[in-house]
This record gives sequence, structure tokens and C-alpha cells, in this order.
Amino acid sequence: MDLQTLLKKSESKLNSVHPTLKAKGIALVEKAYAEGIWILITHGLRTMEEQNALYQKGRDKNGKVISKKDVVTNAKAGYSFHNFGLAIDFAVYNPDGKTINWTVDSKWRRVGAIGKSLGLEWGGDWTSFKDYPHFQLTFGLTCADLRAGKKPPVSSGTSNTQSGVIKKGDNNNNVVALQKKLNSLGYGLTVDGDFGQATFNAVVSFQKKYGLTADGIAGKATLDKLNAILNASKVETGKENDTKTDEGDDEPMKLAQWQKTTIIEGVKKYNKVIVDGEPVINSPQTWIDKVNDGTLTAGELATLTFAIVSRTQN
Ligand SMILES: [Zn+2]
Repeated sequence: MDLQTLLKKSESKLNSVHPTLKAKGIALVEKAYAEGIWILITHGLRTMEEQNALYQKGRDKNGKVISKKDVVTNAKAGYSFHNFGLAIDFAVYNPDGKTINWTVDSKWRRVGAIGKSLGLEWGGDWTSFKDYPHFQLTFGLTCADLRAGKKPPVSSGTSNTQSGVIKKGDNNNNVVALQKKLNSLGYGLTVDGDFGQATFNAVVSFQKKYGLTADGIAGKATLDKLNAILNASKVETGKENDTKTDEGDDEPMKLAQWQKTTIIEGVKKYNKVIVDGEPVINSPQTWIDKVNDGTLTAGELATLTFAIVSRTQN
């Protein structure tokens, strides 16, 4: 699988989270890829409504459990960093590039280490409950702070950059966009949203090549030139119409027979794992029926995968 395909698959999840986390998530996919590890970002923002809908399953209006087998989470809305766009979950692909490796192995741990090197907190380091697929970026805030209305620092998206100038030391989505554009011209930068020395050098090199002031600051003249060149090359190659979005969570998954078997075995196995008095996977027969009927969706597969991998090493 090539890197662009891989990034495309995670795009919608990464677009749902805080820009700084998004940039780090992209860098995570890229750095892992560079080491031969293919990862998928399986979850990003989970809205309060989605969290409440999940919490409501198996409960009555007052939150009292009425059907234990249908309960899927103990977390109410506002008790997960996912609810604030400050967490992502990942999973590691098998070498076939289609299925997920459900066993937390050295590759999973390596991704954990890469994420930490990018400044993310990894759920695999937690002592009481290990959440291997989970990374969060808290900016020193707790969920209680966030529920009380405290906000993480706004890292500027395109709309709130005052000057339109992108320079060394910046760390935001504008830098992500700049790095991607420079990479389209072959600069090979890590797209992490951090305007460091490598990005500076690339900008200087670009400016020299096109007769601009070579100050390493991406101001209007530099950005206009960059956009003009990229737009011209798109017209030439007709690449503009690359609008294929990812398949979406609600599409049923086409699964090979061996994949079906693997999922069914996983579901049965982890239904036997009891955590806090509840099976990790509730109502396994429902899942088995979905697999057999061919109605298991991509979103459900991701959820199942998440449930299974987060317990594998416990
Ligand atoms: Zn998570």
C-alpha cells in the first residue's frame, strides 16, 4: 500500500480532531510507514451526542442499566478526550493491507513509541487500564476542565492566521498545508505541522529556485507562487478530480471467509473476558449474525477491532 492511500483512509478521522493532533496523527502514519508499519486511524472525535447514544444502550432514561448485555460503555458524554477532539485511536494492518492485526505486538508498541516521540500520551502506558489503540493530546487539561468549558489553545487553521505568514517556530495546520505542498514538489518533509529547520530549508530552496526573497518565511509572494505552480501542474495532469473519499463507516464490509472466521473467533474469545463485571464484547451472536449476513459495517468492524485489541494484552 502506498502512503497516500494510507493517509486517505485515515483522513476523515483526522479531520475531526484538533489541528495539532491532526498534524501529529499524520506524522504518526508517515513515520510508521517509513518503518514498514501500516496503520489506520480508526477513531477521532466522538461527539457528545454519539457518546450519549452509546451510553444509552442497555440503559433507561435515568441511566439505570436495564439490559446488561446491551451495555457498550460506562463513559458518559464528556468523560473521554475523544469527546473534545483530543484523542485518536489507531490499528495496525496485516501485511495484506486489508485486515487488521488484532494482536498487540512489537509493531503496535513501536507505533506507541513513535506517537510518544511526537508528544502524544499513549494509552498503552496506562497502568490500570491499558488502551493500546489510544493516543491523546490533553494540553495539560483534564476532561473535568474541558467539561467546565476550558479550551485547548487554538492552533490556527487557515481562517485565523492574522498575517497569512508562515514562519519558523509555527506549529499549526497552515504548516501542515505548506509541508504537503512542498512535498508535492518533491521536498520530502515530514508533515507534522512543526515549522522547523527542514521546512525552513525547503522554503529557502523553493524561494531561490523561483527568484523570490530567500528568507525562509512563507509569506504572500511565496505562497502565491507555490499555489500557482501546483495549480498549473494539476491542470496538466488532470489530477484535480481526486475526490474519492473513504468508503464511510456505514458501508457493509466485504469480508473473505477466513476474515469472517477470524472475527467470529475473536468475538467468541473476548466475550469470555470479563472486565468490571461485564463481557468485553456484548451479545456475540449479534456480531456473528452480522458477519454471516454480510451486514457488518466498516464502523462496526473498527469498534470490534478496538474492543479486541484493547484487551489482548490484559
Ligand atoms: Zn481512544
